Amino acid sequence: MCGIVGYIGAKQAAPILLDGLAKLEYRGYDSAGIAVLNEQAVGVTKTKGRLKALSDLLDGGKKAAGSVGIGHTRWATHGAPSDVNSHPHTNAAGTLAIVHNGSIENYMRIKVFLQEKGYQFVSETDTEVIAHLADYFYEGDLVDMVVKLTEKLEGSYALGILSSEHPDELIAVRKESPLIVGLGDGENYIASDIPAILQYTRKVYLLENGEIARLTKDGITVYDANKNVVPKEVFEVDWDVSAAEKGGYEHFMFKEIMEEPEAIHKTITPIIKEGLLKFGRVPDRVAIVACGSAYHVGVVGKYVIEKLAGIPVEVDIASEFRYRDPIITDNTLVVIISQSGETADTLAALREAKKRGGRILGIVNVVGSSIARESDEVLYTLAGPEIAVATTKAYATQLSAIYLLGLSLAKAEGRLSAADEKIYCDALERMPELIAGLLEQKDVLAQYAKQYYTAKNVFFIGRGLDYAVALEGSLKLKEISYIHSEAYGAGELKHGTISLIEEGTLVVALATQDLLFDKMVSNIKEVKARGAVVLSVAEEGNTEIEECSDVVLYIPKNNQLFTPSLTVVLLQLLAYYIAGEKGCDIDKPRNLAKSVTVE
Ligand code: GLU
Repeated sequence: MCGIVGYIGAKQAAPILLDGLAKLEYRGYDSAGIAVLNEQAVGVTKTKGRLKALSDLLDGGKKAAGSVGIGHTRWATHGAPSDVNSHPHTNAAGTLAIVHNGSIENYMRIKVFLQEKGYQFVSETDTEVIAHLADYFYEGDLVDMVVKLTEKLEGSYALGILSSEHPDELIAVRKESPLIVGLGDGENYIASDIPAILQYTRKVYLLENGEIARLTKDGITVYDANKNVVPKEVFEVDWDVSAAEKGGYEHFMFKEIMEEPEAIHKTITPIIKEGLLKFGRVPDRVAIVACGSAYHVGVVGKYVIEKLAGIPVEVDIASEFRYRDPIITDNTLVVIISQSGETADTLAALREAKKRGGRILGIVNVVGSSIARESDEVLYTLAGPEIAVATTKAYATQLSAIYLLGLSLAKAEGRLSAADEKIYCDALERMPELIAGLLEQKDVLAQYAKQYYTAKNVFFIGRGLDYAVALEGSLKLKEISYIHSEAYGAGELKHGTISLIEEGTLVVALATQDLLFDKMVSNIKEVKARGAVVLSVAEEGNTEIEECSDVVLYIPKNNQLFTPSLTVVLLQLLAYYIAGEKGCDIDKPRNLAKSVTVE
């Protein structure tokens, strides 16, 4: 998980490493460090905490001379976040330094093996095991050493390696964790993700699983796991560096909410213009698999696809799906949703589904990511880079993608007349403008946040599609404001949870579905009767709800199937402002990581 940056060239490496790591901060981390080669010696500086602490130790990088280096932000998987567990890790002689993202599953066995050979360990990490194993395998050539490492290591890893015995080389290798190589002029880079090096180069190699890159300042050779040279194609990055920066807003999250209209427009327009997706054979079942917010998109997908296309849909959390012997046939469409395209559990679920014969459709934001590459077809969300850990615009575009999928399946099933197709597509095309209108109400939400930020428990309730949005609204609040909240199907509340409602408990009630409106009003009255403070969301015109609510927020009328896209904007803003009132670290909430590349 988290970040790796490496540099080899003529410039001082440390400032470039620190700068690159800062661009990867969005991935979430708990400690950071760098290793730089200086006059044939490896200098390591590392610390737990924020990058600022590392930068202070290095005086912004000035204190570390040398023009070959590797840097790391760690999100602990083995051993607490501490100085000693931070990366880089070295061999005992201090000649070899390694940074690692991922997690080694057989590290304990290797550790025992190495201990028997006399190796001593100072940290609790799986990564230190790699450093000593590398030392054990080293016989003069770094690539040979890495080939042997890859034969032994099980689990996931992206590694950056340097050695004082090879001061003109930098080594990169990856398996199941992301790593790219950047091509400069007289200098080259490695990084976990493109924003880290985008200000230096737009030319990158996307390393495949098992590939090993040997970088010098003048060239890069990529090998497969058997040390055969692999010819690589240069991938030209065409998005702007400013797209990965804050653009004047206080937080990435706020910027990204504001970008939703544009992101949705970009995602839906090409498909609406070029015609819905084509299905050679219409699947008889759909399985949607994802984690976190992307899973909540799947819950919306179940309602939408079953309603539009009449095809049964099951939705699963990837970490459950992958181990539960899922029933997948060659006529199951398996929809895999992930912003980063690297989510470890989701990727593993994809592979499991593929093994069982399923046809894979990836809904992914990051081009060239593992899920994108391993899917049979990809429906890209064009949200651009999303930096805030809590997703907003990527979720919004995933929703649009799932609507497009529902419509496409309905068409393939012969359940969508040309007239209906036009009605639905028009409704989707109106969405960016309607969301832009809702965003103008942001100050109203900022006001309510002042009223509610002291809440200790919040309940989000809804029925049908509103229940699916309640799940996401609740998660958003928990993620960034640390307020405990739960989402419930409104009809389910009285089967237990209503006992938690007491005088002053905040209940966010979503009542945008005409068919379920009266039922929601009854459920709202039930919680009101027990002392709840109710903030309701309803469609414009349904003013009847005001009578039983303390506050009502309205969304504009559009097709009823697409209300989640409107409602969620209000819930995202509410969570954002509440977290702001509480003084939380909105873009980097505690304990969370953006791209969850470990199980
Ligand atoms: N498993 C390693 C550790 O706990 C690396 C974690 C990461 O990806 O940052 O140190």
